[in-house]
Amino acid sequence: MNRQSTLPDPSRFFEIRFESIGGLGAHAAGQILARTAVLHMHLNGAHFSSYGSEKKGSVVRSYIRLGDADKAIRTSAPIDSPDVVVVFHTALLEQPITLAGLKSSSTLICNAAAGELPEGLSRVPVGAKIVRVDALKIAVEERSRPNAVLLGVLTATLPFLDAQAVLTGLSEGFAHHNPEAVAANERAFARGREEFEVLDHVGHGCEDLPVMRPQPVWGYQTAPIGGVLPLPGNTVWNDLTTSRTGWLPVFNTEECIHCGLCVLVCPDFCLVWSNEGAGTVPALECPDFSLTWSTEGPAEEAPSARMLGVDYRYCKGCLRCIETCPTEAMTREAETPGLADRLQVPLYPEINKRVGGTRGN
Ligand code: SF4
Ligand code: SF4
Repeated sequence: MNRQSTLPDPSRFFEIRFESIGGLGAHAAGQILARTAVLHMHLNGAHFSSYGSEKKGSVVRSYIRLGDADKAIRTSAPIDSPDVVVVFHTALLEQPITLAGLKSSSTLICNAAAGELPEGLSRVPVGAKIVRVDALKIAVEERSRPNAVLLGVLTATLPFLDAQAVLTGLSEGFAHHNPEAVAANERAFARGREEFEVLDHVGHGCEDLPVMRPQPVWGYQTAPIGGVLPLPGNTVWNDLTTSRTGWLPVFNTEECIHCGLCVLVCPDFCLVWSNEGAGTVPALECPDFSLTWSTEGPAEEAPSARMLGVDYRYCKGCLRCIETCPTEAMTREAETPGLADRLQVPLYPEINKRVGGTRGN
C-alpha cells in the first residue's frame, strides 16, 4: 500500500543545510535528523558534513536530504539551494556563502540573541521565512548544546517532521555515551519549540540569493610568495568568540594568589602575567596546596609575577582554568555581547591609539 507523502513537495527532495562552527553540534544534529527520518518517519534520508581542519572553531556545513521512501537518494552533492538553512552562530552571517542559494520560498533559522538584528539578514529574499531563537542562551541555561534547541525549532517550523520521533532520536543518540545529557537535551529541545520568534519584514532581497561553493581564498596563481604576510600584525585582532560555547572565564583579582596553576592547564596561553608590582600582592592562602605568599615574608616566597587576567582573543572557553583554580579567582559567566571586550586585559594601548581599534585594548 502506498503511504501518503508527508513532504511539502513529494516530487523532489527536501533539502536542509546547517551552517555552523565546530563544537556547536551541527554534525550530530544532522545525523540524528536523517537517521530519525529513515527509522521513524517512513522517509529516505541522507546526511553528510564538510569541515576543514577538525578543530573546534572551524566552519562546518552539514547537509540533510529527505525524500519519500520510494524515491532513492542517489546524490551526495552539497546542497546549493536549500529549503531550510539553519545558522548555528550569528558570526557566520557576515560571510555571503552562509546564506547562498536561499530562495524566497526557503526558511532561515538563526541562532541569535534577542535585540539588535544581525547584519546580513537584510539580504534574505523577500518572502523567505526568518526565524530567530537564542539557542546559546537556552543551551547554557539547560546545560545542553545549541543543536538540541535548534532541532526543537526545526520540528516546530516544519510540520512534516515528527517532533516526538526527532526527540527520541536525539535522546537515543546520547543515551549510551552521555546519559546525563538526555534530560538536559530534552528540556532544551522543548524550549526550542516554544521560544522562537518569526521575524517579519526583515529580508529585503529582490531575488533568490546566488549559489556559491566554498573556494580557497588563494590558488596557485594568486597566492603571495611563500612566507610573505600581506597583512603584518594580523593576529593582533584574532577572535575566538565563535569557538566558545556560551561561557567565559572571568578573573577576580581579589581572590587570586598568583599560583600559576591556571597557566599550566590553559591550552592556548591566554593568561596574561606581569612582573610589574610582583612581591606587593597581599597575603593569601591557597586552600588546596597550603601555600602562603606575603609581602611580609622573605623575598623568595613572594610571587615573581602577577596574574592580570585573560586575553579573550585566544580563549576558546574550555574552562580548564576554572576547574584548576584553587581559590575561585576564576569563575564562569554566560557570554553576552561585548563582555569579553570589557574584561579584556589592556595589552596594546599604543597600537590601538594609532589605528583607532579596541580589540586587545
Ligand atoms: S577557558 Fe580555556 S582557553 Fe580560556 S583561559 Fe581558561 S583554560 Fe585558557
Ligand atoms: S587565577 Fe587561580 S589558578 Fe590562576 S594564578 Fe590566580 S589563583 Fe592561581
